[in-house]
Amino acid sequence: MPEYAYLKKQFVPLAEAKISIMTHSLHYGTAVFEGIRGNWNAEKKQMYIFRLKEHYTRLFHGARVLKMNLPYSNEDLCNITVELMRKSGFKEDAYIRPVAYKSSEALGLRLHGLEDDVFMLTIPWGRYLDVDVARCGVSSWIRPSDNVIPPRFKINGLYINNSLAKTEAHDNGFDEAIMLTPDGHVSEGSGENIFLVIDGQIITPSVDQSILIGITRDTVIKLAKNELGIEVVERAVDRGELYMAEECFLTGTAAHITPVSEIDHRLVGNGKIGPLTQKLQKIYFDVIKGNNPKYLDWCWPVYKK
Ligand code: PMP
Repeated sequence: MPEYAYLKKQFVPLAEAKISIMTHSLHYGTAVFEGIRGNWNAEKKQMYIFRLKEHYTRLFHGARVLKMNLPYSNEDLCNITVELMRKSGFKEDAYIRPVAYKSSEALGLRLHGLEDDVFMLTIPWGRYLDVDVARCGVSSWIRPSDNVIPPRFKINGLYINNSLAKTEAHDNGFDEAIMLTPDGHVSEGSGENIFLVIDGQIITPSVDQSILIGITRDTVIKLAKNELGIEVVERAVDRGELYMAEECFLTGTAAHITPVSEIDHRLVGNGKIGPLTQKLQKIYFDVIKGNNPKYLDWCWPVYKK
């Protein structure tokens, strides 16, 4: 089964999707990307792309920061994504990576006076943090403040920060990093948002805590409220609270809901998945696989019946 990409306004086999080494974004990270999932439902023989429009809304916000004029609307990108996935014909969980980039073949630091375009690729992709429960360590690398590079957008160049943290965590024997804000509060994982359960309350760092405002984070907040009647508390979280939480979990398109078993060599609860995390995980997987009719609006079917 050939894997496909979308490049320069055409669908091409992934192996043939090439760009010039002069491309501006390759040199300076002047691009903004998304990570989107297609979730395979074996019973329904259907692939559902989760919250597609919301991903492109975030991409367009980032594109404004990079002063991009993209030759596409949100609807165009949604249609191209569905078509790309359909062409690829995957019958397993998949990942879609659209990148809006400064496509001019030109050097020189700037955002202005350059052409912009979008490419996209899709690959089969199972679990991102290939563990049932993640062991985490607080990173020595901190998230940037909003006036360094706004972390709420998925700006490619910014992801050096995340990569430094992820590799440090890996080298120290952890599965994932927990990054702090410039003033020392808990921000997020290298590619996930973080939630804690303390005294039965579900808590997550608020949007002013140098986080990427995750679509899975938003999904969990909505599902906790609608399905469990629990209002998630969004606030600044102290590092010390990491060590007293009864439960902790990470959320992201790639990582789904991954329970955290250990932080800085201290067990979270009893080191196993906590009851609230387990409930949310079950509800979430039903929703993203298109098995909960209440949330089918979030699920974009790929294959025509
Ligand atoms: N934080 C960071 C830094 C990320 O890269 C991601 C992945 N996009 C997330 C959080 C989770 O965001 P989402 O749920 O939208 O995938």
